[in-house]
Amino acid sequence: MAENIDGKAIAGEVVEKVTSRARELAADGIVPGLAVVIVGEDPASQVYVASKSRKAKECGFHSVQHSLAVDTPEDDLLALVETLNRDPAIHGILVQLPLPDHIDTGRIIQTIAPEKDVDGFHYTNVGKLGTGALEEAFVPCTPAGAMLLLERVRGRDLSGLSAVVIGRSNIVGKPMANLLLAANATVTIAHSRTNDLPAVARGADILVAAVGRPQMIKAAWIKPGATVIDVGINRIPAPERGEGKTRLVGDVDFEGAESVAGAITPVPGGVGPMTIAMLMANTLTSACRANGKRPPAL
Ligand code: NAD
Repeated sequence: MAENIDGKAIAGEVVEKVTSRARELAADGIVPGLAVVIVGEDPASQVYVASKSRKAKECGFHSVQHSLAVDTPEDDLLALVETLNRDPAIHGILVQLPLPDHIDTGRIIQTIAPEKDVDGFHYTNVGKLGTGALEEAFVPCTPAGAMLLLERVRGRDLSGLSAVVIGRSNIVGKPMANLLLAANATVTIAHSRTNDLPAVARGADILVAAVGRPQMIKAAWIKPGATVIDVGINRIPAPERGEGKTRLVGDVDFEGAESVAGAITPVPGGVGPMTIAMLMANTLTSACRANGKRPPAL
């Protein structure tokens, strides 16, 4: 039976380290500041943003939330981002995606000052990650968190191991592949145009699923003993829980995979809780960099 990688517990440890370092910084008069910006009323985004702001407060950060109307003009949002760029009390700026259609998301992201881009989506941070300058980059929170989970099982050096990432998004798949490469894994990125995906997946000592298709990856796709990191979060009907009820599942068929994999992240409770923890860690790192302090090792 596969080892269950407890993302909830590991995320808790990260938040504890961040909180304790934030307390030390406070003694020097430094308070990490996170600004979260949301445009519109999307219920899922509202939940994410509220939990990010709440977690920042729990960590002892200065936490501000800007909630803008769905019809906010792009120029107003740009102006807000520029104001936050100049605000010395703010070390991290997060603009919740997706933005309404009339706003050019790329333009907004590229306006965030790279040194405050705690989501790691600015070209400068993408480039730093791509060139292996990890100490200077902000790495997107979900793959950064997935990497920490993987480290608990496989250590920091993945030399000689083959990793397959299924999914090539800019938010998860590509940065994950770069992180694995930086850790010396031999990396394959598979996606919707890959031939014979099961065979590709079966070659992986480390299999990362970031597709967004419920339980697509079956036990037969997994190399015995592989470490499986399931980034997918999918809501499916759960009539067994009552009429109209739903439940969350990953991209991996967990029950089948558990008997083949060496270690696996569950959904929920695996990668999910790591994302917000890494956002806190990135914000703390930003405050440390801005004040010439070393961020804590995670
Ligand atoms: P995306 O839709 O941007 O990208 C999905 C990728 O999967 C694409 O590159 C596509 O080529 C690939 N793909 C689609 N169908 C495929 C198929 N049949 N076979 C092989 N590859 C296929 O999604 P994303 O933003 O990268 O997110 C992926 C999953 O991770 C989603 O379930 C999302 O909810 C989840 N996610 C979780 C967190 C978190 O844990 N906090 C954060 C971000 C995303």
